[in-house]
Amino acid sequence: MTRGEPHGGAASATDSASATDSARFLIVGPQGSGKGTQGVLVAEAFGVPSISTGDVFRENISKGTELGARVQAIVESGDLVPDELTCELVRDRLSQPDAARGFLLDGFPRNGTQLDDLAEFLESRGESLDAVIELSVPREESIARLRQRAIDQGRTDDTEEVIANRLAIYERETAPILDVYRDQGLVVQIDGVGSLDEVTERIFAALAGRGLSPIAEPNGGNGAAA
Ligand code: ADP
Repeated sequence: MTRGEPHGGAASATDSASATDSARFLIVGPQGSGKGTQGVLVAEAFGVPSISTGDVFRENISKGTELGARVQAIVESGDLVPDELTCELVRDRLSQPDAARGFLLDGFPRNGTQLDDLAEFLESRGESLDAVIELSVPREESIARLRQRAIDQGRTDDTEEVIANRLAIYERETAPILDVYRDQGLVVQIDGVGSLDEVTERIFAALAGRGLSPIAEPNGGNGAAA
């Protein structure tokens, strides 16, 4: 994966010299927007852990842990796991040493309660978010991609009925939190329609435009602007 390259024309020659000291990102988008894939790429480039609450739940379900048993039926129906449980899990994860410099959260927060909980947690640590990456894709595209994923991956929550429930919850509870972050000037809106690489480039260009550039390669790699 390319890292550190300023994409697009807006990057200045100083970008490569000033790697961002903290990188606290959220990636928000409807189901099938590609946020999981893009989130991992952004996290890797910035050298921070990518934390997907959905992955944590799925992993616990497949391993048959106590947490997995508690959330299995909820995840399979596409409903939200109770906030108390989800918020505690995220606080624990963000308290681990590898998240001290930053993190990329995928799938959290998903409603106003979770947004408030995250804000309180970060404030108590004197930390703040650097950007909220919004991946926009039209509803029909989102549904088409999920149908394909159902074939490719066989996720139990990718049935027509559960997809409809998850999208409805996204539109009702998750999309509105973007307005809160927009008011805080944190939202970087990205058109999520295009090839994986095109969307990745758009994300890095938009972040670079806000002075957020990936960590430099240890060997000096590709940092210098042409
Ligand atoms: P998608 O975005 O495609 O629905 P995720 O992997 O983000 O997939 O989430 C899968 C499921 O995990 C959700 O439908 C929900 O049941 C649960 N989940 C994930 N994140 C949260 C969250 N922040 N709050 C509550 N439930 C969550």
